[in-house]
Amino acid sequence: MHRCFLIRNADVILTMDDTAKKGEWQEIKGGDILVRDGVIEAVGKGLYDDDAQIIDAEGCLVTPGLVNTHHHLYQTLTRAVPEAQDALLFGWLKTLYPIWSKFGPEHMRVSALVGLAELALSGCSTTSDHLYLYPNGARLDDTIEAAQAIGMRLHATRGSMSIGESAGGLPPDSLVEREADILNDCIRVIDAFHDPNPGAMIRVGVAPCSPFSVSRELMRDSAILARDKGVMMHTHLAENDEDIAYSLEKFGMRPGQYAEELGWVGPDVWHAHCVKLDVSEVELFAKTGTGVAHCPCSNCRLGSGVAPVRGMRDAGVKVGLGVDGSASNDSGNLIIEARTAMLLQRVTFGADKMSPREMLWIATRGGAEVLGRHDIGILAPGKRADIAVWDMADVEAAGSWDPAALLLAGPMMVKDLFVEGRHVVADSWVTTMDVPSVVRHQTRLAQGLMDG
Ligand SMILES: [Zn+2]
Repeated sequence: MHRCFLIRNADVILTMDDTAKKGEWQEIKGGDILVRDGVIEAVGKGLYDDDAQIIDAEGCLVTPGLVNTHHHLYQTLTRAVPEAQDALLFGWLKTLYPIWSKFGPEHMRVSALVGLAELALSGCSTTSDHLYLYPNGARLDDTIEAAQAIGMRLHATRGSMSIGESAGGLPPDSLVEREADILNDCIRVIDAFHDPNPGAMIRVGVAPCSPFSVSRELMRDSAILARDKGVMMHTHLAENDEDIAYSLEKFGMRPGQYAEELGWVGPDVWHAHCVKLDVSEVELFAKTGTGVAHCPCSNCRLGSGVAPVRGMRDAGVKVGLGVDGSASNDSGNLIIEARTAMLLQRVTFGADKMSPREMLWIATRGGAEVLGRHDIGILAPGKRADIAVWDMADVEAAGSWDPAALLLAGPMMVKDLFVEGRHVVADSWVTTMDVPSVVRHQTRLAQGLMDG
């Protein structure tokens, strides 16, 4: 690995840094970025260093690496399952649970490698993952090993389900775990893998699957454990009308109230979806610093609705983007997610209600803030060298007048991606693993699941 390199003469660098006002983030035309030992040393024009390897960025737009705040990487093995193609959330889950119950460690590792490669090729340098089922000896370790192999920054969350069908929950009893075992394994993976330091490649969070698959006690105990350990907390919340109805019926309150009552609001918490938050819940999230992972393609796919991102942003809620799992998207391309998020806000609230630049901020800096990271999502001296280089001179964006073209036109695949200064994608090719052989392995595993 070259320890020092210079990205030179980019058409435009979108820095997302603090020196400009909201909505007017600093942009450098003909800019350079100097990187040493995984950290950005300088951003500006006419930079030079004797030791630096040169990365020519003429014709390119440079942004921070995108940040994905919600995923279930294991689901890349269950894309486009016929019986799940046209179901709403609860029916969709009930179709897929029996298939997922056949997974083991190898399924978890290989599906994560495929999902991570897909994300990297779409310009994503940091992702969170929410793994909430552990059949046949699968462990969170399998996903973490995959991220280490490809060289991506991972916020792995130890998910859980504890209320099976026989107790009135949604998942089959075979996929739920005892609550004491769940909490013990949370402690194990935090102690083994969580790195609280700036530049961390692996962080661990605590993440009961959803209010409809764990008990009130596990929600509360998970929050206590996470705060005791100083890690973040994540779950699904207010995803669709069924979800709200379940909350009102079972708990006698809306999801936001339920979250607040059990300690699930605060700057160390982020919730996926939040499509159905009402105005008072949006205010609660803003006041408490609670983050949202907005997953527009999954919300479209499951017919859940359009999350009120415009209102959340105006109220001061932290919002990032998530591709969600590949059984409900079924793509895991984060730049497509950003384009979709922008378009959905515009068709719902008006063409002037979500600019491409604001959405690119949400896709980078916004996601970093949701994950509690201040060392990524910005191109500035001292920040980690997570950098995406987009070729704006090829067919998808040729003829464009402005960097907004990245979301209005394309490309949908990154040219170069650096993570902690490592050249993970070069010329739209993953350098750190043999993608074709992993994909062949994945195809065999999927075939095995189809054959039953
Ligand atoms: Zn999800």
